[in-house]
Amino acid sequence: MILYNSLTHRKEPFVPRFGNKVSMYTCGPTVYHFAHIGNLRTYIMEDMLEKALRYEGYDVKRVMNITDVGHLSSDADTGEDKMLKGARREHKTVMEIAKFYTDAFFSDCQKLNIKRPDVVEPATNCIPDYIDMITVLLEKGYAYHAGGNIYFDTSKLEKYYVFNDHNEEDLEVGVRDDVDEDTNKRNKADFVLWFTKSKFEDQELKWDSPWGVGYPGWHIECSCISKKHLGEYLDLHCGGIDNAFPHHTNEIAQSESYLGHEWCKTWFHVHHLNTTGGKMSKSKGEFLTVSLLQDKGYDPLVYRLFCLQSHYRQSQMFTWENMDNAAAAYTKLLGRIASLIPAGTPVDVEKMKPYQEKFRQALDADLNTSLAVTRLYDVLKAKDLSDDEKLALVGDFDAVLSLSLLEKAAVIRDAQKATSEVHGDGEYVIITPADATDEEQSTVRELLLSRYQARKDKNWAESDRIRDILKDMGIAVKDNKEGVQWMRV
Ligand SMILES: [Zn+2]
Repeated sequence: MILYNSLTHRKEPFVPRFGNKVSMYTCGPTVYHFAHIGNLRTYIMEDMLEKALRYEGYDVKRVMNITDVGHLSSDADTGEDKMLKGARREHKTVMEIAKFYTDAFFSDCQKLNIKRPDVVEPATNCIPDYIDMITVLLEKGYAYHAGGNIYFDTSKLEKYYVFNDHNEEDLEVGVRDDVDEDTNKRNKADFVLWFTKSKFEDQELKWDSPWGVGYPGWHIECSCISKKHLGEYLDLHCGGIDNAFPHHTNEIAQSESYLGHEWCKTWFHVHHLNTTGGKMSKSKGEFLTVSLLQDKGYDPLVYRLFCLQSHYRQSQMFTWENMDNAAAAYTKLLGRIASLIPAGTPVDVEKMKPYQEKFRQALDADLNTSLAVTRLYDVLKAKDLSDDEKLALVGDFDAVLSLSLLEKAAVIRDAQKATSEVHGDGEYVIITPADATDEEQSTVRELLLSRYQARKDKNWAESDRIRDILKDMGIAVKDNKEGVQWMRV
């Protein structure tokens, strides 16, 4: 697979360090509020990447943290504590908030067919791991005490700005605009590893440490949770593009200083979801959630399809009109799959292979999800495949696309069967689309009964003529063992 690596700023063949095994880490949510659909776009794309690797035959182990401590509203250790903010807003404890929004996050993931990572680890589970890593960083001279806190000293690194989209100047602008500048820091880019003296007097969660009672900074959790479950080498680290700086930059600083060698080779970043008002973010007040999409009548998988239609390295524009287009495309796609009739005939795997190969090539090309969806349409249009072969390929592709295509098409097919009409002692069964209007149904019925009579009389010219009339009306007719089925094309 060829993937764009944010660390080297180019597309590269993805090669895991240990043969067939892929260690994959994902930065999880900060569970102080619902995830907005912009956050979820990142998780959909990461899910696609994991499933594409599995489709290739890799043995993937994926780990994700849940941030339930230490994340301030600015990623650079300033602003409000997000978990405290959530607890105050809802008059609950931080742990109650964490539990509620962790469950809400996984419920959203389930609705979007995002697989749960193999390991999900809340940050509050790993305090001894942070203490161990910070102790080593202090011993090696990469960290220092100041004003009761422990900081990472970025001046000790040969290269700090590893994702060169940001440089020192950008950071200075950030700091200058910030009223909460931390005067304990020796260098502006330094960051907190452990707080014992923070401005949050009411910090609920505190632990004992060699440096006093306190709590960890945000970045240390990902370095430690990754090492705990995936070892000293990581093949793939994922996150939203927002996380590249400073969060991922700081993860690299901590992990490589602690380990003494390169840590993660490939970095995968998903770009923003924009609305007409700009980048989607929680700080702007009202934000879009999966529940809101459902309240407005959209199947959450319409949003998944919408995301697949654009590349993960491009920002995507969300509008209700775009969602309506995705909904129409999804309905049409399911309708086409529903029109395939499973006959139980043996499938020819050799005939299916070229289609699978093209699908794989789309995923291999830096996870080109929209091309992968096009490959699905190619299967549906194919002249050399039986319905059973098409259905087998739809199921095969959907292991990655995860649009519940076969299940939802089966429901539609059953609904269509429910509207079957029987004519002439059960000799002639007409299967009508579930959403056909009465007018459509009676017009088509009349034509199909004439066609039936013509075929009975072996009047093939008349039968073909009627088929052409239907075709001009945008209607295709399929004779199968359950009856004659008509559908819009
Ligand atoms: Zn992280």
